[in-house]
Amino acid sequence: MRAVVYKGNGQIALEERPRPQIQDPRDAIVEVTLTTICSSDIHIQHGAVPRAVPGVILGHEFVGRVAEVGSAVRKVKPGDRVAVNVETFCGECFFCKRGFVNNCTDVHGGWALGCRMDGGQAEYARIPFADNGLTRIPDTVSDEQALFNGDLLSTGYWAAKIGEVQPADTVAVIGAGPTGLCTMLCARLYTPARIIAVDTDPFRLDLARAKGLADITLVPGKDELLETVRSLTEGRGADVVFEVAGGTDTFQTAWQIARPNATVVIVAMYEEPQVLPLPDMYGKNLTFKTGGVDGSYCQEIMDLTACGRLDASFLITHRCGLEQILEAYRVFENKQDHVIKFAIKP
Ligand SMILES: [Zn+2]
Ligand SMILES: [Zn+2]
Repeated sequence: MRAVVYKGNGQIALEERPRPQIQDPRDAIVEVTLTTICSSDIHIQHGAVPRAVPGVILGHEFVGRVAEVGSAVRKVKPGDRVAVNVETFCGECFFCKRGFVNNCTDVHGGWALGCRMDGGQAEYARIPFADNGLTRIPDTVSDEQALFNGDLLSTGYWAAKIGEVQPADTVAVIGAGPTGLCTMLCARLYTPARIIAVDTDPFRLDLARAKGLADITLVPGKDELLETVRSLTEGRGADVVFEVAGGTDTFQTAWQIARPNATVVIVAMYEEPQVLPLPDMYGKNLTFKTGGVDGSYCQEIMDLTACGRLDASFLITHRCGLEQILEAYRVFENKQDHVIKFAIKP
C-alpha cells in the first residue's frame, strides 16, 4: 500500500509499505477512506517532535471502514464506518480511568499514531485498543463531517471544556487556524456573550465571522488588542483566553488580554520554549491549563455532529488523492491558497 513516511531530518516521502496486520486481539485494521494533514505533522517534519520515530507512517486524523478486527474487539465489526481517535489508550490505567487518556501509561498510550506508531496517511492503518480508539460514524454523517472528530474537534471540545466557559462570558481565541476555529465552534456550545478571534490572516478571520464563530475579529499590529478587549469588558479583559496560535509573542498576548482570575488555556504546540513573566502577572491570579488534548469525548462529539450541532466540514478547503499528498504538505505548510484543511482520499 502507499503511505507517507517520516524519514527524519525534515524529510517525508510517499512509499510502498506492507498492509498492516492484526498484532493483538484488541487491534482493528481500518481501510482509510479519508485522511488529512495536521500542523503536528509539520512539527514532526521540522524535527520539533522528539518522540517521533523516523520510518513511521504519518497521519493521526482520519476516518475509514473497519477491514478486520482482533478476537477481543467488541464495539466495531468489519464494514463499520469509523472515526479514529488521535490518542491510543488502554482504558484501564490510572490516567485512563480519570479521562486523562493523553497520559495513558500503556506503551502505546497517548499520541502514538503517526508519531511513534504507523498512522493513517496510508491506505490501511492498525488501531490498537480498537474499542477505545474507534467511534462508529452514523449513516447520516459523511466522512468529511467525521474527519476531524478524533483530533481537531476533540482538541476544540477538550479546550472549551477545561476552559470552563460560562454563559455570557467574553472568550478570546488567539489563532483562527483549524484548531482555533474548532475551539470557537466548541466554545459556542457554552453560549458565551461574544468570541473575539485574533489572527494575522484576515482571510481566516473573515471565515470565523462568516461561519458565525467569531463576533469580533482583531489583527495584531493593526488593532489595539488589549485596549479593544478591555473596552468590550468594562476594562476587565477576557474571561477565558485560548492560545491556539503558537506564535512568537502569542503566549504573552494570551495572559495580557485575560482578566484577573481568568483561565488561560494553552492549546498551541510551540516549537520554542516560552517565558512566564511571573513578576509582571503577580496579583492577576490567573489559572493556566496546558495541552495536549485528552481525546475522551469522541462519542459526544459524534452525537453532536449527528444532530447538527458540531459540523467542522467547512474547514475543508482543498481535496486531493494520496498521490498528490506531498504537494498538499507544501501548500499546507506554507499556508498557500488560503488553505485551512485538506481532505485526502487514499
Ligand atoms: Zn493533529
Ligand atoms: Zn491507559
